[in-house]
Amino acid sequence: MHIFNKVSALKLFIEGAKSQGKTIGFVPTMGALHAGHLHLVTEAKNKADIVIASIFVNPTQFGPNEDFAKYPRKQEEDTEKLNTVNCNAVFIPDVGEVYPSGNSELITHNPQLEKYFNILCGAFRPGHFAGVVQVVKRLFDIVTPDYAFFGEKDFQQLFIIRKMVELENLPIKIIGVPTQRDEYGLALSSRNAYLSSEELNVARKLNIFLRERLEGFKSYSSLRADLAKQSRQEFNSQLDCFASARNDGITSLLNLGFTKVDYIEFRNSLTLELESIYSDKTRIIAAAYIGKTRLIDNLKL
Ligand code: AMP
Repeated sequence: MHIFNKVSALKLFIEGAKSQGKTIGFVPTMGALHAGHLHLVTEAKNKADIVIASIFVNPTQFGPNEDFAKYPRKQEEDTEKLNTVNCNAVFIPDVGEVYPSGNSELITHNPQLEKYFNILCGAFRPGHFAGVVQVVKRLFDIVTPDYAFFGEKDFQQLFIIRKMVELENLPIKIIGVPTQRDEYGLALSSRNAYLSSEELNVARKLNIFLRERLEGFKSYSSLRADLAKQSRQEFNSQLDCFASARNDGITSLLNLGFTKVDYIEFRNSLTLELESIYSDKTRIIAAAYIGKTRLIDNLKL
C-alpha cells in the first residue's frame, strides 16, 4: 500500500491510475480505525479499481471544548489495518497540506445546504458541519474520486455530503454504508475507546433502546390512525392515555445511565424533516453522553 503525505505525490499516483482508465474509490476517515472503517474500504474495493483512504483529524470540525487534542491518533496501526483489506493507498496529510491558505478557506455559503447544519448534532456542535463540508470538499478536490464512501452511523453527515454533491453537481457518486456494530449492537466508533467497561455496558443499551422506541412510535402511529376513525371525544381521551403512557425518551436514556442527552428524534431518512407519524422512511436519531464521551446512533426498522 502506498502512503502519501503530500498532495503533489498523491495527485501523480491518481493521474497514473486514471490514465490507465481506472476508477477511484475514496474513504475519508479521521483514523483510529476499526472494523466499521475497514468495511467502508471493502465496499469501496468491490466498486472501484483503486481505493484511497485518508486519515486526517480535521481541526475545523471540532468545537473549542471538544476532543480534538485527545482524539486517538494511531497511524502505524491504522496503516497496518488498511493493508489487511488491500487498500491501495492512504493519504495522511498535515494541516498545512490540507489548508495551504489557512483554515478559513473553502467555507461553503449555500443556504440550501446550511439549513441542515443547525439541526440534530449541528444544534449542539456549532460550526461542526461547516468544517465537515470544508474538509470533504477539499479532499474531493485533491482525490477527484468516482465514488466516495460514508457510514450511515453519521447519518446527518452522509445526508449533508450527498446534498453538497447534488447542489454543486460534483461528478462523484456517494455511497452510504450500513453501520457496523459489535455483538451487542453498539455502533463501532473510534470514541468507544474512551469508555470504561461499566460505561461500555451503558453504551450498549443505546441501540436496543432506539429500536424499541421506534417500534413504539410505529405502534403509536397506527393506533392514532385507527382512533382517527372514531368520534373526536373518544379519540382525544384515548390518545391522551397513550401519550401519558409513552414516557419521554430523554428521561429514559438518563435512567439507563446516560449522563446527558443532546437529542432523540424521529426524522425522515430522505429529507431529514421531523416526523410526527411513522412511515417506512422514519429513522430514529440520537446523541447522548456517558461522562465526557458523546455517542451517536440512528436506525430504521
Ligand atoms: P470517522 O473516522 O469517525 O470520521 O469516520 C470515517 C467514516 O467511517 C465516516 O464515513 C463514518 O460514518 C464511517 N464510520 C464510522 N463508524 C462506522 C461504523 N460503525 N459503521 C460504518 N461506518 C462507520
